[in-house]
Amino acid sequence: MIYLDNAATTQIEETALGAMLPFLKGEYGNASAVYELARNSKRAVFNARKQCAAVIGAAPNEIFFTSGGTESDNWALIGAYEAWKKKQGEACAVSGKAEAPGKTSVTEKAGGHIITTATEHHAILRTAEYLESLGVSVTYLVPDGEGFVNASQVLEAVREDTFLVSVMTANNEIGTIEPVCEIADAVHGVRKDILFHTDAVQAFGQIHLDSFAEHVDLLSASSHKLGGPKGVGMLYIKDGIKFGSFVRGGMQESGRRAGTENVAGIVGFGAAAEASFAGIDAKINKETALRDRMIAELSNITGVIINGPYEKGDSAKRLPGNISVCIKGIEGESALIMLDREGICASSGSACTSGAREPSHVLKAIGRADDEAKGSLRFTLSHHNTGEETDRAAAVLAEIVSKLRGRNRF
Ligand code: PLP
Repeated sequence: MIYLDNAATTQIEETALGAMLPFLKGEYGNASAVYELARNSKRAVFNARKQCAAVIGAAPNEIFFTSGGTESDNWALIGAYEAWKKKQGEACAVSGKAEAPGKTSVTEKAGGHIITTATEHHAILRTAEYLESLGVSVTYLVPDGEGFVNASQVLEAVREDTFLVSVMTANNEIGTIEPVCEIADAVHGVRKDILFHTDAVQAFGQIHLDSFAEHVDLLSASSHKLGGPKGVGMLYIKDGIKFGSFVRGGMQESGRRAGTENVAGIVGFGAAAEASFAGIDAKINKETALRDRMIAELSNITGVIINGPYEKGDSAKRLPGNISVCIKGIEGESALIMLDREGICASSGSACTSGAREPSHVLKAIGRADDEAKGSLRFTLSHHNTGEETDRAAAVLAEIVSKLRGRNRF
């Protein structure tokens, strides 16, 4: 098998697995209890908090463990809305407006405004739609042809009632790395009260985010994208930000995200984060070289268009391990099935909606026509891949493309 779908999930790193095993066996204490067995779990969770915090230059008390990137994104958006609503309610209570009989109070009529991008993951887009259903206005910024949004675009969209801006760090389909810190600084330059969130699920542990905590207020990450276990993630919440709890119940995660901790999962996440952080430059260099080698091979196939920004050797504008292409005259889905028969795992940019294959919203947002977008394929590499693997995948794909094009002629 050749695994080239690391943006979907990654194989667990030995260091993460090794760190988890004791907590799946003898170290089963509930971190909230008072005896030594429990204290071991508590210490392990705290250690993981430190390991995750280090990746973005945060303090451990600013890291809140969740069940994954999707929950973190939901919490960021819904939490920001609830915090804003609470502030509106307090402002009304002071001015006495909400008390006026027969009048619609601000809490009854939600209002408010958020800014995000048209190329976010569905964890953000569906949550933004949910907020719309509550009366929030949402601006979906349209990126340029390479998937970038910029600070002036965001500033132009800011309204008096804007309470949140959410721009992803790196795109999961086309690998575009957004100028997130620049945008966050620009937003805070004009309005300190607007929260800035970034979905860093594809970037955390993959590229340098060392000083992100200085710039953003909220950041989502997920363990299984960097060699940790599935079902665990985190939300960074900058110290001092008034942000309510998402899951109510016990006092875990400082009372902000209740529920007995997934100790083994959290420990695995921490170990994977630490290992990625320690080896990040070697990983970036290896993946960038592999990506360039595979793109060079794929360029021999006629009708291949690269999606997203691409420059050989560059890992500042595009994720090092990301290759996204549209291939003229083929269906990406058919190519995927044929690649799978040859033991090659990749993905396409289309999403299955009500049984129909819809062209990817990301590819459409960067201007690809429907039939171009339908011919999309994504290969995402990890530091475990080799040049032999990427060469073989490119050669197999070249054969598949000529077979599919031959079929399509009749
Ligand atoms: N955000 C982005 C950019 C992603 O790529 C993903 C997963 O692919 C998620 C959020 C959701 O993360 P999780 O699978 O941990 O729920």
